[in-house]
Amino acid sequence: MKVTDHIKKANGKTLFSFEIIPPKKGNSIQQLYNNIDPLMEFKPPFIDVTTSREEYLYIKKDGLLDRKITRMRPGTVGICAAIKHKYDVDTVPHVLCGGFTKEETEYLLVDCHYLGINNVMALRGDAMKHQQYFEACEGGHQYAKDLVSQIQNLNKGHYLHDVLEADDKSDFCIGVAGYPEKHLEAPSLKTDLKRLKQKVDAGADYIVTQMFFDNQKYFEFVEAAKAEGINVPIIPGIKPIAVKRHLQLLPQVFKIDLPEELIEAVDSCKSNKDVRQVGIDWAINQSKELQNAGVPVLHYYSMGKSDNVKAIASALF
Ligand code: FAD
Repeated sequence: MKVTDHIKKANGKTLFSFEIIPPKKGNSIQQLYNNIDPLMEFKPPFIDVTTSREEYLYIKKDGLLDRKITRMRPGTVGICAAIKHKYDVDTVPHVLCGGFTKEETEYLLVDCHYLGINNVMALRGDAMKHQQYFEACEGGHQYAKDLVSQIQNLNKGHYLHDVLEADDKSDFCIGVAGYPEKHLEAPSLKTDLKRLKQKVDAGADYIVTQMFFDNQKYFEFVEAAKAEGINVPIIPGIKPIAVKRHLQLLPQVFKIDLPEELIEAVDSCKSNKDVRQVGIDWAINQSKELQNAGVPVLHYYSMGKSDNVKAIASALF
């Protein structure tokens, strides 16, 4: 079932969902299941599975460093199919522009279609570590909106190169990313919103936000999006702070602000166990306010560990 149909069916009740990261190459899928199992009692209608960009590995060979390109966390579509099969829950594979040609994307979408996976999250991806700016690979998409268009074309039965008489159309529900504190490369929030509108005009059905720690930022973003003519559901993404280093890391990587009260609470913690509790309490308060405001879904970034998300969900669902 599509994410948007789950939202319609819920009839105003806030749903619970979360995002997981595929295990590192060579690790068992069981560790993923061990983290999903405790969250299933909260009946997520869908689970997102991220995709990682390729990265360079430097391997010592004959005293020289050999550069190899690899994906350290492969298996997104396989994991989606496995979870769907094991838990009878819908899954949302993240599909990236970065590192994929349109042809490879088409294969991936066809796989999803055959597997009965009819939700996808269309994302650009970030620059690779050695790049200053994002660069599409040859034959790939530059912006998420172009990826959304490719997926919508498939929904109309238009495959690449127009070489096929296609009578089998896909029926993907498409999610895209939104940034309450603007995307780090965007010159202004207003410009970023116009570009978000382009993704919706290209066929995005719903938006999931980047993490934020001040609900006011989300509420203002939703209002500004409406003023821009964006009328699809906007799902808030919530990340519980888990370690002290997040105080520096999250603003650095995502260019987001943290409220003073949260910084002070984390700073005064004696151990990361205490920080984890502060993160849980903050996320519960955030979630309660968002739930009272009638958000369609509370979507949690689990980062591969479910204990804090379970503690939060227990207080809400
Ligand atoms: P876009 O919508 O393409 O926007 C990227 C930038 O380009 C923005 O600054 C935008 O303003 C600008 N832009 C857009 N259109 C134009 C235009 N026509 N001209 C000029 N500028 C333009 N990353 C992963 O690698 N894997 C994941 O699984 C993943 N999951 C995510 C899930 C969520 C909910 C979110 C919020 C992010 C996720 N990301 C993931 C991170 C995401 O890939 C990065 O934030 C990336 O830098 C931007 O992706 P996007 O889809 O928002 O890009």
